[in-house]
Amino acid sequence: MLSKILIANRGEIALRVMRTCRELGIPTVAVYSDVDRDAAHVRYADEAYALGGQTAAESYLNTDAILGVIDKCGADGVHPGYGFYAENADFARVVAERGVAWIGPPPEAIEVMGDKISARRAADRGGVASVPGTLDPIESVDDVIAFGEKAGWPVAIKAAYGGGGKGMKVVHDAEGAQAALDSAAREAQAYFGRAEAYLEKYLTHPRHIEIQVFADTLGNAVWLGERDCSVQRRHQKLIEESPAAGLDKDTRRAMGEAAVQVARACGYVNAGTVEMLYQDGEFYFLEMNTRLQVEHCVTEMVTKLDLVAEQIRVASGEPLSITEDSIIRRGHAIECRINAENAAKGFGPSPGTITKLVLPAGPEVRWDGGYDEGDTVSQYYDNLVGKLIVWGPDRDTARHRMLRALQELVIEGIHTTVPAHQLVLTHPDFATANHSTRWLEEQVDTSALVSQAAADKAPPETEELTPQVLPVEVDGRRFQVKVWLPDAGIAHSGGGAKQAPRPRAAASTHGSGSGMISAPMQGTIVKVLIAVGDAVEPGQALLVLEAMKMENHLNAEQGGTVAEIRVSAGDTVGTGDVLVVIE
Ligand code: ADP
Repeated sequence: MLSKILIANRGEIALRVMRTCRELGIPTVAVYSDVDRDAAHVRYADEAYALGGQTAAESYLNTDAILGVIDKCGADGVHPGYGFYAENADFARVVAERGVAWIGPPPEAIEVMGDKISARRAADRGGVASVPGTLDPIESVDDVIAFGEKAGWPVAIKAAYGGGGKGMKVVHDAEGAQAALDSAAREAQAYFGRAEAYLEKYLTHPRHIEIQVFADTLGNAVWLGERDCSVQRRHQKLIEESPAAGLDKDTRRAMGEAAVQVARACGYVNAGTVEMLYQDGEFYFLEMNTRLQVEHCVTEMVTKLDLVAEQIRVASGEPLSITEDSIIRRGHAIECRINAENAAKGFGPSPGTITKLVLPAGPEVRWDGGYDEGDTVSQYYDNLVGKLIVWGPDRDTARHRMLRALQELVIEGIHTTVPAHQLVLTHPDFATANHSTRWLEEQVDTSALVSQAAADKAPPETEELTPQVLPVEVDGRRFQVKVWLPDAGIAHSGGGAKQAPRPRAAASTHGSGSGMISAPMQGTIVKVLIAVGDAVEPGQALLVLEAMKMENHLNAEQGGTVAEIRVSAGDTVGTGDVLVVIE
């Protein structure tokens, strides 16, 4: 068994991995950015080391800094979580070259599945049909039109290296093909550094059903069960459940066996997920995620297995603790992703400080969170606050249990997806499992949802001296010291990186038509689309603001002339900052 594990991640997944390590008696090492100096995963770990920096690139994706910590702390295993380095074959390789175990698949398997075209070829080798489409990169718009005319519109143009719901464009007819192709290539180049794209038939009402697979180094490979992840927005998952409602036993087994064949076709080891689209009784390979997934918990709830423990076992060279026949799936589990997002505003990001957090409890309720009360959900990273997972003997009991748990969950200070979950879970279409991947966006009106967020609630101030445990760094390693200080000065210090409160412009400056365009949220300006002196029309896009990996266009509320631009690309802005003045 491994003797010390470094978790190259943050937030809920870092904590999730550390919990299992602690149960197994394996010491854990956290790494952290400046912003995360006192984050929940850092507080939980047995040791923690600074990476410096704020953005992902400066910190959790800073290879030299992380390799330096691996060398310094003496870990013999690295768990990448999901995101960041989890599907980075080069990083997996340099870790392994140091003689440190990579708690994930071999780099070669990551490479095959990292490119959607080679992944489709691997599925083909495994005898599993992909969504009808092409196996070669698109050369010109003629390819798109020819495929659309043959397979039928609509067609999806997909970036070979895309992911996270980005790099896919749907084309409805030949006329729209060129614009969609250009836009897909631009997005793919900007996000993934490679523009290659290929074609798939765009299924109009599929369910997203994926299979959890696991393989060890001794040649054993099993499938553990399926997850239905059809409740999505922006092609990204919001609710996951297991089993998939209404899926018959034979289809489930056929999908499971197909998934194992795909895993074997790429020499897979450790935990992986084979994603499929299921429509009108047919299933098609979509892609394989070569990591532990966010939604692994629903599989854990129905199988009563600890997938992280299994991952560590496999990375230590031991056999899987299970065989296909020994896996028992019982009851029904549902997971709701609690994101810092405002469902009423098109699920736009809502970074900020959690001023109040009350977690649900009771039978069969699990919370995998990354933050405590007083912590800040930073604009620099993913906006997942935590995952609420429940189990019930059947789907309807689980659904009602989730509604009860959501009612108990209190998160203030930021907007969250909680109201959207409540709407979905009470909707007759969801209750009868009569939904597909486009259902939430097309059939459900979330515009009137009101979040519990009581924004701007300041933590209470007091002059009393109380003992405080403070993080300090000595030569980059983190220690805790106890000091007596006034509450107000320190209680929510969270390290120096938490941003000092900024004077807020009245909320009305944004969207009031006053001509002062202010930032609706913290973020980074990625593009300025106008210049001083330009004439602008109402609704015209002025700036692109990125927060939590999402781009938001800030538009003119009124027509006029640009009198002032107070920011440039690369600037970090806070909520309420005035960015542009139009006269
Ligand atoms: P990503 O790598 O960005 O997660 P995927 O290929 O896994 O992209 O697809 C994510 C989601 O996009 C799917 O769950 C589904 O909702 C939608 N999608 C992808 N391909 C298709 C397709 N060919 N037809 C219909 N929906 C699709």
